[in-house]
Amino acid sequence: MSLEKYRWDLVNCERCSMCKWQHPWSVKSRERAMVCPSLRKYHFDSYSAQGRFDLARGLLEGEFELTDRALEVIYACTLCGACDVTCKFTRDMEPLEILHELRKLCVEKGKGPLPGHMPAVDSIRKNHNPWLQPAARRGHWARKMSVKDLNKEKAEVLYFAGCTYSYNANLQQVARSTLRILQQAGIDVGILGSNESCCASPIVKVGMQDLFQEHAAKNIEMFNGLGIKTIVTSCAGCYGVLQSQYPAVGKMNFEIKHSMEYFDELVQDGRLKFTKDVPLKVTWHDPCHSGRGGEPQDLWEGTRVRWGLSDPPRERNFGSKGVFDAPRRVLEAIPGIELVEMERIREFSWCCGAGGGVKSAYPEFAVETARERVREACATGAEALVTSCPWCEANLLDGINAEGAALEMLSLVELIERAAGT
Ligand code: SF4
Ligand code: SF4
Repeated sequence: MSLEKYRWDLVNCERCSMCKWQHPWSVKSRERAMVCPSLRKYHFDSYSAQGRFDLARGLLEGEFELTDRALEVIYACTLCGACDVTCKFTRDMEPLEILHELRKLCVEKGKGPLPGHMPAVDSIRKNHNPWLQPAARRGHWARKMSVKDLNKEKAEVLYFAGCTYSYNANLQQVARSTLRILQQAGIDVGILGSNESCCASPIVKVGMQDLFQEHAAKNIEMFNGLGIKTIVTSCAGCYGVLQSQYPAVGKMNFEIKHSMEYFDELVQDGRLKFTKDVPLKVTWHDPCHSGRGGEPQDLWEGTRVRWGLSDPPRERNFGSKGVFDAPRRVLEAIPGIELVEMERIREFSWCCGAGGGVKSAYPEFAVETARERVREACATGAEALVTSCPWCEANLLDGINAEGAALEMLSLVELIERAAGT
């Protein structure tokens, strides 16, 4: 694939600006009508999907060079996909795929990724995680737990902790709690310990397609060899890339579930019961990569005939089939919890600000975007902001601290543990 594949989109973009705003039906206030964090931060049209289309077309036609400024325009974007959802309500362009292609082009031309991305990229190559941590310590988060080692024995479910929940001392508890709840519900679950390797989401996000393919192919081969039925992960980043990017790399003989979906199923079939009251007013943040980015992708190849007509026909991904209902059902099942919604939710959710390599290359932009989300959460009157993604949790916590907001940052599994009394 290349930008050339998207020439039709680039030429036929209407410059209608829908990719900057919530769908009109969903707008609740002028203050929070925008969906694009990049445009909100940098103000110029170039920093929206529409503007990046102009840049991409210019690069395709040889009108521009990949200058440092052009690189900033390309990489100062969280790849949150909000533009992709809102564009498709009126047109059927592929903004998110084009934003990915722009980054691949930067890498092909030897201009990308940015220096700020390189420590994580080099660490994934060397240590199989972006956190500069030794691979041998990856399974230490579970060293005091009794759990099946899938390198030696079989289980139906692989719990894939992901890099951040494995290594971040402040977040490891999420992995332990999730595993404990699965075990207590009687799930036949195991882990890979030090043989678990990065899902490679940070690599694909910065445009390093070849390295991603290599890494993803190895992971798929290993997963297929385990004989598992399901991979469960608590990380929205891992979930999103496994759902949307891995199928193009190789056939997978198992299904992918976010822990939110698994918890929801356990609550529905009575294997997870809540016995304790948790009196708390909470609001839910939809992570981009399990929400609009968690929708299974249509791996369409063909020709665009005109607007709305493709040969062969293809489905449009509206982002509305991601994991939205499961966490809300779980929260509503917890006695004492009052769920109050923010203005921008579900496929129109405001990004936490950490994605797309922004946290490492543009940390101030990442925190500003989180602060905007924290202000939105505070406006609901909630006492706690709840989500289930380590990138969102860490960056939103930075936003809470920067705002000095009286808001607790919680992972969904923490509330489940309190309510289940485990
Ligand atoms: S919404 Fe789609 S068609 Fe309209 S300006 Fe944005 S990318 Fe172009
Ligand atoms: S992916 Fe998100 S930050 Fe990037 S252009 Fe689209 S809406 Fe803006």
